[in-house]
Amino acid sequence: MKKFIAEFKEFISRGNVLDMAVGVLIGGAFSAIVTALCEKIITPLIEVIIGAIAGKSIDEMTSVLNVGPIEFGSFLSAVINFIIMAFIIFLIVKGFNKMSNLRKKEEEEEPTTKVCPFCCSEIDIKATRCPHCTSELKD
Ligand SMILES: [Zn+2]
Repeated sequence: MKKFIAEFKEFISRGNVLDMAVGVLIGGAFSAIVTALCEKIITPLIEVIIGAIAGKSIDEMTSVLNVGPIEFGSFLSAVINFIIMAFIIFLIVKGFNKMSNLRKKEEEEEPTTKVCPFCCSEIDIKATRCPHCTSELKD
C-alpha cells in the first residue's frame, strides 16, 4: 500500500499531469465565455437586427422568438469567472513549481560522486581508491 501511494505521488508530481488538468480547466472556462458571448450577446443581436429588417420592435421580437434581451452583465461575469479561475490555477501551478524546485535542490544537495584529487575524474563518493589512476584516497 505504501508503494502504491508513493507511485501515485510520483504520477502526480510529473508535470504533465498538472498541465493536462490545467488544460481541461482552462478549456472548460473558456467554452463558458464563448457560450455566454453567443447566448447573451450575438443571438439577441441577430434577433434584433432581423426584427429591425422585418419592421418589428425589439419587444415584439423578444416575445415572438422567446429570446432574452442582450445581457452584457452575463457575458462580463463569464469573463471575470475565467480570469479568477486562471489566476487561481496560476497560483496552484506556481506553488507546485516551487515545491518541485525545492525537491530538485534537495536531490542536488546529496552528491553521489566526488572528484579524484589526483586525476580529476569523477568517482563514487564511497570509493577509497580511484578506479582511474588507482591512487588511494584518504577521505
Ligand atoms: Zn584518480
